[in-house]
Amino acid sequence: MLQSDRVTTEENPSATQACLACGTVIDTTAAQPLARVPCPKCGGKVRAERTFDHFVLVETLGVGGMGTVYKARDTTRDR
Ligand SMILES: [Zn+2]
Repeated sequence: MLQSDRVTTEENPSATQACLACGTVIDTTAAQPLARVPCPKCGGKVRAERTFDHFVLVETLGVGGMGTVYKARDTTRDR
């Protein structure tokens, strides 16, 4: 009875931000957090912010020697 055919994923909401210069709404969903996304209209750089619940990622914290904050492990090959 615990089996579920339908999985609801809500960890990847679409993110949009308005350009500070021209007000164009830019889709920053695919952008890395804190990456500078160029505005397609005026070319201005918009810093992609990420919101986690009520937290907004505004600063890069804990940059290690590798410089990698997000790491994913390939679980399909590691058995
Ligand atoms: Zn713009």
